[in-house]
Amino acid sequence: ITVEDLVAESYKRIEEVDDQIHAFLTLNEADAKAKAKALDNAKDHGASLFGMPAGIKDNIMTKGLRTTCASQFLDNFEDPLYDATVMQKLNNEKIVTVGKLNMDEFAMGSSNENSSYTGARNPWNTDHVPGGSSGGSAAAVAAGEVLFSLGSDTGGSIRQPAAFCGVVGMKPTYGRVSRFGLVAFASSLDQIGPITRTVEDNARVLEVIAGHDKMDATSANVDVPKYTQSLTNDVKGLKIAVPKEYLAEGVNPEVKEAVMNALKVYESLGATWEEVSLPHSKYAVATYYLLSSSEASANLARFDGVRYGVRSENADNMIDMFKMSRSEGFGKEVKRRIMLGTFALSSGYYDAYYKKAQKVRTLIKNDFDKIFEDYDVVIGPTTPTPAFKVGEKINDPLTMYANDILTIPVNLAGVPGISVPCGFSENGLPIGLQIIGKHFDESTVYRTAHAFE
Ligand code: GLN
Repeated sequence: ITVEDLVAESYKRIEEVDDQIHAFLTLNEADAKAKAKALDNAKDHGASLFGMPAGIKDNIMTKGLRTTCASQFLDNFEDPLYDATVMQKLNNEKIVTVGKLNMDEFAMGSSNENSSYTGARNPWNTDHVPGGSSGGSAAAVAAGEVLFSLGSDTGGSIRQPAAFCGVVGMKPTYGRVSRFGLVAFASSLDQIGPITRTVEDNARVLEVIAGHDKMDATSANVDVPKYTQSLTNDVKGLKIAVPKEYLAEGVNPEVKEAVMNALKVYESLGATWEEVSLPHSKYAVATYYLLSSSEASANLARFDGVRYGVRSENADNMIDMFKMSRSEGFGKEVKRRIMLGTFALSSGYYDAYYKKAQKVRTLIKNDFDKIFEDYDVVIGPTTPTPAFKVGEKINDPLTMYANDILTIPVNLAGVPGISVPCGFSENGLPIGLQIIGKHFDESTVYRTAHAFE
């Protein structure tokens, strides 16, 4: 098959299904087809992702290709002037960017219902959400529109949609992948990662995008192993920890059963598992929403109607121009978080909220460190339930936030976590198994995930 054929297939599939899935916000058809042709002519098959059609979450900068963060504020941001580091790396390995993918506005959300365009839907059942915020990234892969996609994960936004859509999603260790060119939500938590159909594909993409980058001060100078070489299928002697909090009340019985079955598979492969405790995980949701909203309130201050995006036309002085651009440009959830974050950071409240949350974050990280003294991986469900219905939680932010309870601790601790499909609910929706590893030990996470697949 030629790259031209492969890319044409991608657009054909998008044409067939995307008016129901709404995974894409922007297509790159003319450029992608021209690039495919050029690749076919060059025949440089040495590149590790040669000719692979990819979709990119719309908060990752793509030079010359519209990047909106699914926000009205950036609706007219047609031409980012540079590529994110991950895009430079993927382009060096000759991918073809098919288009930009739907998400919750500025990556704030768990259902895609916060997209300021029509939100993406779950390809398994379009009455259900695909998850969020990287819902378009997971849906596009699940629906066969692209071979792989990139998402970003601040509190679960790669793993939760991967679980809801029955695909593989990896949030790497904080610092593993450069954030240069990722529109910042909460800088101490954000990581970019791959969403794919298989663990092997996932390992292959992370191999390309990982590594130190001088353009991101938090990017770690740690060697990147060949993740594809860790897929040995050998988990004999692997020590698995299963936090009791991850199978507690609130976790749906079908999800529990699927996870227990997965643990039986690991036993049959020679691994062992034991119940452990992450005692501070009950504070994770509150801690996360405090810290992430605080960071977001600072990061989103740059959207002032001057430098990027849409400027209000109704203001007659500068201060009103800032105010009106922000009140017209941002959606409801984004405003809610900016207000929460601004409050938490204001003098007089900083110690009581922000500083306290930072301390709890350390306790949550210590919980993981302690477990990893004795175990190789932590396993549990990715989400408490399979994909919920469109409209089911959108009017109740606290219920929506509670859905992130199993993914958020991983971001707070900075460790890597993957979601792999582990079964289906009775009504035919996928269930995700979450495998969490030590800092910078994505290799063991991939090996564990691949042996199960
Ligand atoms: N659902 C979480 C939130 O709304 C996580 C989002 C994310 O990881 N970007 O913040």
